[in-house]
Formats: sequence, C-alpha cells, structure tokens
Amino acid sequence: MLCDSYQRKIEYLRLSVTDLCNLRCRYCMPLEGAVKKEREDILSFEEICRVVSAFARLGVKTVRLTGGEPLLRKDLPRLVAMLREIPGIEELLLTTNGVLLAGMAAELKRAGLTRVNVHLDTLNAEKFSQITRWGRLAEVLAGIKAAREVGFSPIKLNVVLMKGWNDGEIEDLLRFAADENLILRWIELMPIGPGKDLQENFLPSAWVLERLREKYHLSPYGKRLGRGPAEYFKVFELNAVVGFIHAVSQPFCEQCNRVRLSADGRVQDCLAYDESEGLLELLRRPGTEDSDIDGKIARMIQVKRPDHGGFLMPACTATAGMYGIGG
Ligand code: SAM
Ligand code: SF4
Repeated sequence: MLCDSYQRKIEYLRLSVTDLCNLRCRYCMPLEGAVKKEREDILSFEEICRVVSAFARLGVKTVRLTGGEPLLRKDLPRLVAMLREIPGIEELLLTTNGVLLAGMAAELKRAGLTRVNVHLDTLNAEKFSQITRWGRLAEVLAGIKAAREVGFSPIKLNVVLMKGWNDGEIEDLLRFAADENLILRWIELMPIGPGKDLQENFLPSAWVLERLREKYHLSPYGKRLGRGPAEYFKVFELNAVVGFIHAVSQPFCEQCNRVRLSADGRVQDCLAYDESEGLLELLRRPGTEDSDIDGKIARMIQVKRPDHGGFLMPACTATAGMYGIGG
C-alpha cells in the first residue's frame, strides 16, 4: 500500500499524456499554448505502462487520463487498451474538453475506458468561444451525446465557476445536466498558472449552493461518487445530483489520495507546487529493475506535502497552468 508520511493512502493517479491543447481556457493556458516537447522527451506508451504498473503494485487502483487535452495524444485508444491489461487497475477514467470526443467515444469504449468527465463552463456559444478563445460549443455537445450513446455512465460535467462569466448560468447548467443525465460539478477557480491573474472572478462554491437552495431542496448525497474530493447533493425537484470541488475555500488536503504524473515523466505530489521529480532517466537507464522504479515512487510519495498552503505565495509556486500538471 502506498502511504505518505501523513498516513494518507495514495490510490489515484492522474496521468497527463500531453501538455498540448486545442483550446486555450483563460485560467489554464496562455494564448501561445504549451511548448511542444520532442517525441523523445515524453514517455512512450510502453514507458507509461511500466510506471503505471509500478503504481498499481504499490496500491493505485484508479488512473485518470488527462492533459493538456488527452484526446490529442496520437493513438490514445491503444494506450487505454494497454493500461486495461495492468493487474490492479480497476478504473480507467478520462477528463476531456470534449472537442474530439464525438469521433473517438466508441473506440475509447471498446478499448476499455471506464468513465468520462467532460469540461464545459457555459452553454452560451459566444461565451464558450471567449473563455476558450476559439472553441465551438456544438463540438463539445456532440461529444457528450456520443459518449452517452456508446454507454459511458455516469458522465460528469466539470464547470469552473467564474464570476461575470457563468455565475448567471447556475440554473441553466443544472437543468441541462439533469436533462442529459449528467452529474454537474462546480470547480472553484484556482490561483494556478493564468488562474492567478483572474482572482477577481473567483466565487466560492458555497455561493452556488446558496443560490440553488433558494429554489430547490438539496440534501447530501450520502454515497461516494468516484474517488475524487467532490461533495455531492441530491436536487429533489430535478432528480439530479450536483457536486462541488471547493479546493480553495474548503481545502480537502487531509483526504488527498492522489498523485500526478506528467507527460515527460515527472511525479508531482501537489498542484500548488512546481517542484517535481522525474522518472524518465531511471526508466531509460539500462538495467533498471521494476523494484528500482517502485522504490523511487515510494520515496517520492513519502515527501508529499501536507497541504496546498492556501495556494499562497511564496509557498505556492505553481507558475505553470493546469495543462502542464494534469488538472
Ligand atoms: N483538457 C481537459 C479538460 O479541460 O478537462 C483535461 C485537462 S484540464 C487541465 C483539467 C481540468 O483542469 C479542467 O476540468 C479544468 O476545468 C481545470 N482547470 C484548469 N485550470 C484551472 C484553474 N485555474 N482553476 C480551476 N480549474 C482549472
Ligand atoms: Fe485545455 Fe483543459 Fe486547459 Fe482548457 S482546461 S486549456 S481544455 S487543458
């Protein structure tokens, strides 16, 4: 079992398969995008599987493919099929902006992907293209539809809450999610990367909860939905479930069960700090045994920090956007 020095059990790996993205969400990625890495500077599928096998031996059960935009990684369904073969991995999840999902949902399902989260901040096409700088809402909606049609369930809809952008869509988004049988989750805007400069747009997720309570009857969902930190409520009138990820206003660091692996093989213990240690060199060194990789990962987890320090400088050094960390 993989435990850090604060006795937190680490069982969830967020695996970034690329830093690149086809959108430029204002709080995540600068307009110029990510610097494209040379092919030899990112983990191959075989190397990814070797590292994930090590995590699985140490007790990780859930792997989430993320990025950047994971669907941009060439041949992703092949990686999904390879990861499915790893003993101990029970769930293989995907977080996507949905742009390419319509064309790939069926293949991903066939390859053995377990579940899909789609990130969508607004139902207004114009606002969508402003937030993402050029995205087309219709493509994401088609992606959600395709994912549902091929049988992914439940599909979660991740919405970053932003004052002045989507705080007027609380009800529209909830009704949309209820109609489409999606689980809506409000994510607080984090002061990470370009998100640092948008703090005037921050609203605590409790604000959404209060607005919803003015109109609907909500009660705690009770059961756990996945391995993430979201807090869920039932909305009786709509027979829907809504979740809140309040990493800023009510940190849940003491329950943190996750670790991140970047596309170039760095293990990052917390979103809030840039520092990370690489596995690439060890993976490519002739004679490296599986036990060497297991040992290095276990040592990296031992120094996992206790919390994100309120995302405050100078402790919080996260200058890179989420696209480079894996969200
Ligand atoms: N491209 C995929 C997507 O958008 O879902 C996967 C990667 S993206 C980095 C993962 C998540 O990070 C997205 O759901 C997005 O909402 C979230 N994210 C990025 N920057 C953020 C920020 N500054 N605050 C809160 N959430 C952020
Ligand atoms: Fe791309 Fe996801 Fe970042 Fe938006 S949040 S820029 S879709 S990586």
